[in-house]
Amino acid sequence: MDRNESIFLAGHRGLVGSAILRRLKSDGFGRVLTRSHAELDLTNKAVVADFFAREKPAIVIAAAARVGGIKANNEQPVEFLLGNLEIQNNLIRAAHEQGARKLLFLGSSCIYPKFAPQPIPESALLGGPLEPTNEAYALAKIAGIKLCQAYAREYGANFISAMPTNLYGPNDNFDLATSHVLPALLRKAHEAKNSGARELVVWGSGTPRREFLHVDDLADACLFLLQNYDNPEIINVGAGEDISIRELAELICEIVGFDGALGWDASQPDGTPRKLLDSAKIHSLGWKPKISLRDGIARTYEWFQRETLSGGS
Ligand code: GDP
Repeated sequence: MDRNESIFLAGHRGLVGSAILRRLKSDGFGRVLTRSHAELDLTNKAVVADFFAREKPAIVIAAAARVGGIKANNEQPVEFLLGNLEIQNNLIRAAHEQGARKLLFLGSSCIYPKFAPQPIPESALLGGPLEPTNEAYALAKIAGIKLCQAYAREYGANFISAMPTNLYGPNDNFDLATSHVLPALLRKAHEAKNSGARELVVWGSGTPRREFLHVDDLADACLFLLQNYDNPEIINVGAGEDISIRELAELICEIVGFDGALGWDASQPDGTPRKLLDSAKIHSLGWKPKISLRDGIARTYEWFQRETLSGGS
């Protein structure tokens, strides 16, 4: 990838997009196009087509999506299915029509069956029923993967798809109703510490296991794949280790400095019992994550405190 090529980064304000933007800038990529939601509504086919016809980006990074934690996904299947289909269809179609040289589509580990073999290899895709709490989002992402593969097969497009595991880091969503578990627990521990609470309430049973990757590691993997991977077959991007929700809650309390008790809210769903990706394929190509979970959480907590103090999220 040439540093003077034009790159359209869709979703540059999100967790993933903002990390990729920081990385592209620090690596000296000089022609990165970004548009806010107000400037370019990615769910609108006509305005996306116009934008691509004008700008003709050589590289497209599709990091824009409607995302959310277990509760939001479970309660708004229409928005997660339709919103994501619209965004990705518009981006992928326009990238092809305007001759983009390469497109990177970002999926998710929830595309895999609920009871996939663990760690989950790429070949597990469509091998069984999905986890119901995030089925709508997963179906949209599977459709995006298949659309990229269809463009590759029918038109020879170099459209690749990466499947990141659960991500966290700066610019994550810390709203307790819609966030994922890691930012939710960071916020809950911070607030419990500051208010002198005796208990922090965690959803579900604490037994589900999840794998977490710092989003700067994902950005590193995205650059690596843009430079080194030209295959329409999906590729997992994980940290290689998982942890139970109980262990995660304990680790977060330790980092934040909250020493009260953990309570469990059994009325909230556990979701899929385990989600650990098999990342052997990307590892064999020469990419490895660099940020440990403890360091990554500590860095994210510093960012969260700065944001909270400056009146941000
Ligand atoms: P998932 O990976 O799609 O299931 O999404 P989440 O990150 O939202 O949830 C992961 C697991 O963490 C589930 O078992 C949740 O029940 C559990 N969890 C525990 N406490 C919380 C919380 O405060 N917020 C969220 N979102 N999940 C929590």
